[in-house]
Amino acid sequence: MKIHSLLSFTRSYAKLSFIKSKPKVSNPEAVATTSAITQVHPTTPVRARFAPSPTGFLHLGSLRTALYNYLLAKNTKGSFILRIEDTDRTRLVEGAETNIYNTLKWCGLKIDEGPIEGGEYGPYRQSERKEIYKKYADMLLEKGLAYKCYCSKERLNHLTESAKLLKPPTNVTYDRKCLHTEEDGPSYVIRFKSPEEYDPIVDLLHGTVQFQPQYNYQDRRYDDFVIVKTDGMPTYHFANVVDDHLMKITHVVRGEEWLPSTPKHYALYKAFGWTPPAYVHIPLLTSLKDKKLSKRSGDLNIFTLKDKGVLPEALINFVALFGWAPVRETPGESVSEVMKLEEIVEKFSIDHLTKGNAKVSDSKLYCFNKHHLFNKLNDPIEFEQLVDEYYPKFSKLTNCNKDYFKKALKYVTPNLTTMNDFENHYMYLFQDVDLTGAIPPNEHTQAILEQILKGDLSDVNSCINKIVADSNKQISKKDVFLSLRYAISGRTSGLSIPQYMDLLGLQEIKKRIQNAIIHIENKS
Ligand code: GLU
Repeated sequence: MKIHSLLSFTRSYAKLSFIKSKPKVSNPEAVATTSAITQVHPTTPVRARFAPSPTGFLHLGSLRTALYNYLLAKNTKGSFILRIEDTDRTRLVEGAETNIYNTLKWCGLKIDEGPIEGGEYGPYRQSERKEIYKKYADMLLEKGLAYKCYCSKERLNHLTESAKLLKPPTNVTYDRKCLHTEEDGPSYVIRFKSPEEYDPIVDLLHGTVQFQPQYNYQDRRYDDFVIVKTDGMPTYHFANVVDDHLMKITHVVRGEEWLPSTPKHYALYKAFGWTPPAYVHIPLLTSLKDKKLSKRSGDLNIFTLKDKGVLPEALINFVALFGWAPVRETPGESVSEVMKLEEIVEKFSIDHLTKGNAKVSDSKLYCFNKHHLFNKLNDPIEFEQLVDEYYPKFSKLTNCNKDYFKKALKYVTPNLTTMNDFENHYMYLFQDVDLTGAIPPNEHTQAILEQILKGDLSDVNSCINKIVADSNKQISKKDVFLSLRYAISGRTSGLSIPQYMDLLGLQEIKKRIQNAIIHIENKS
C-alpha cells in the first residue's frame, strides 16, 4: 500500500512540478508559489513525532527517521513524541514495540510524550484511539466527504483486475458504486471522496511536488481510498492525519517512500479545514553499491550492532550523517565529523539536508566507533562506566582482577575499534599464550630467546643491545623485538616491550620465553 502510487501517479512528479527552490515559509498552506530562499529551518519549538508501526525490529532507516525528528525537536527546544501506529493488527510483530523502546533508550533519544511517558495528547498508541477516529470519520460522513462502501471483496477484486486492462490504463480502481447507494448493513468500509485533482504539496527538502492519479475517461474510476476498515480500525492515511493534527505536530520528517501519500494527506487536511504540518521527506538509504539496503548491511536489527561492540554514540554519529552534514562556519574550515549527540543537536539544521540517497558504509561505522571508544576510555568517568559494563563478563572468562583489567585496558586503548577486540585479540594478556598457529618470526628466534634468558631482562634495552652487538651483525634489533613479541604474545604486533614488562612482570615474561623455546624445540 505504501508506495503503490509512486510509479502510477502521473509523471508530473518528475517533470512538471518538481520546483527546485526551497519554499519561503514552513507553513505549507501559506505557500502559493515557491521562490528561491534558503532558510526553512524553524526557529520556534517544533513538535516532531516518530511514528513507527510495530511490524518488525528497528533498523538503520527507521533509526535515522527517529533521530532526525529528535534532532529537529531538540535543536528548536521542542518536543519529541513517540506514536505507535499499530492499527494494522494483521502485521503486528511480537516484541517489536519493546524493541522500539529499547533501541531509542539505548541510543539516548529521550521521549517527551509517548505510550509509556504519557502526555497531553494521548493515548499515543493508535489502537487505543478507535473512538477518536470514529468521531472524525463521522464528521466526514456528515459533510458528504466520505461514504460507506458495501462492495464485496469479489467485486473489488474484479474492479482492480479490470482497471489493469483499460487502455489507457488507470491506477485508481474504485467506480463509486456506493457513493449514492441506498444499501445499509453492519459490514462496510468508509471511503474518502477524493478530489478530482490533488493539490500540490510542499516539502521542505524537495520544494513543491505534484502527484495526480491517472484516469481513463471512458471507464472512470476514483482514488477513493478507505479511511476506516470493516473492523472499525482506521487506515494509515486517516489515523496519521487525525493524530498529527490532534497532537499538534508541526513538522513531519519521514522516509521518501511516503512522499506519494502526502497529497492524500493534504486532501484529508483540507476536508477537515485543518492546516497540514510541514513535511520533510528524507532520501532512501542505500548500500555503497547503490542498491536498496540488504538485510545483511543496513537492514539489521540495531541490537545486532550492539552485540558486535558498536557504541550508541558511534551509531548515532554514523546515522546522523546519512543525509545531513554539519556546515562550515567559514569556507575551507575543517569540521570534525566525530560528534556526540548533544553536539549534533546543536548543529542540526534541515537547511543542510541532502537530497541524494544516503550511502551506508560499514567501515565508516567502525571508524566512528574507534574514535568514540578512544574518547570514552580517556574520560575518567566514562572509563569507569565501561569497566563496570565489561568487567563482569570478562572476569568470568579469565578470572582476572579488576585493577589488572583496568591497567590492561588503558594500555590497549589506542588499538581498540570495539570493546569486543579486547576479548578477541588480547586474551594472551590474561592467560597462557597459545603458540600453536604462530610462526617464529626469524631463524634466530630460539637463539635470541635463550640469550635473553641468560641476560638481565630487567634492563631490556641494554639486554637487547648486547644480543645485537654479540651477534656480529647477524641479528638486528628488529629480530630481537619480534622474537620477544612472539614469545610474549604469539603475534608480531601489540603493545611495546616495556608495556608488557609493566603489565605481566618479569617472572611471567621469563616463563613465556621458556615456553616458547620449548615450543620451537618440539617443533623442530
Ligand atoms: N507508520 C508509518 C511508518 O511505519 C509512519 C509514516 C509517517 O511517518 O507518516 O513508517
